[in-house]
This record gives sequence, structure tokens and C-alpha cells, in this order.
Amino acid sequence: MTSVEGCLFCGIVAGTIPATIVRESERTLAFRDINPVASTHVLVITKDHHPSIGALAESDPDAAAELLQQAAAVAADDGVDGGWRLVSNTGPDAGQSVHHVHAHVLGGRPFGWPPG
Ligand code: AMP
Repeated sequence: MTSVEGCLFCGIVAGTIPATIVRESERTLAFRDINPVASTHVLVITKDHHPSIGALAESDPDAAAELLQQAAAVAADDGVDGGWRLVSNTGPDAGQSVHHVHAHVLGGRPFGWPPG
């Protein structure tokens, strides 16, 4: 397991920082966002530390595929029949605030397009 000292999401993987975990797979963990913007707002992360979705796809494509599968499973578990959105902010212009790969699974209300 690769982890980075001081990384918030590595702390959740290690169990030293509490989180409401909803799914776990071999290489991923999914937990509810602490500041939800929709009734379903779950973050899917890899247990290993990767800084972004692009970096993950480059260095571990199998884990990237597993992350996508788990995101879809989270949406199915939450029964977001009206549809759901997957977002992985990368870099400052996108507002990435935690530099450990995560995909936001958002559902339970309509979302506009394009995003603001
Ligand atoms: P981003 O801004 O795309 O990097 O997303 C980071 C997300 O992590 C934000 O939506 C935060 O609300 C969420 N977050 C920060 N700390 C925690 C935590 N301890 N548990 C769950 N979610 C968190």
C-alpha cells in the first residue's frame, strides 16, 4: 500500500481519520462526503495514494477501472434512478482540494450543464 504522510484520504484508508464508509473493494474505498452538495455525495478513492485521476490511469489502469466500477455500484446502492454524475476535479482551476485521487458520485437531484 502506498500512502503519503499527512494525506487526509490516506488517513481514512488507514482508519486514523473517521469516515462513513459505504463500499470497499480490493483497491478502493467509498465514503460519504463530509460536506454533501446532493443527497447522494460519495467519494470513491483508491487505497493507494495517487495524486489525480490522470496519474492513476497512467500508473494503475486496473485500479482506475475498479474505481469506475465502484462508482457505478455506489449509485446503484443509493438507488439514484434519475441519474448521477461523476466528477474528478484535477488541479487548481477545477478546485481540487485533496490531492489523493477521488471521484465524486453525485445524485438525488438534477444538475445543470455546463457546470458553473
Ligand atoms: P475536491 O475539492 O474535488 O478535491 O474534493 C474534496 C472533497 O473532500 C470535498 O468535497 C470535501 O467536502 C471532502 N472532504 C474533505 N474532508 C473530508 C472528510 N474528512 N471526510 C469526507 N469528505 C471529506
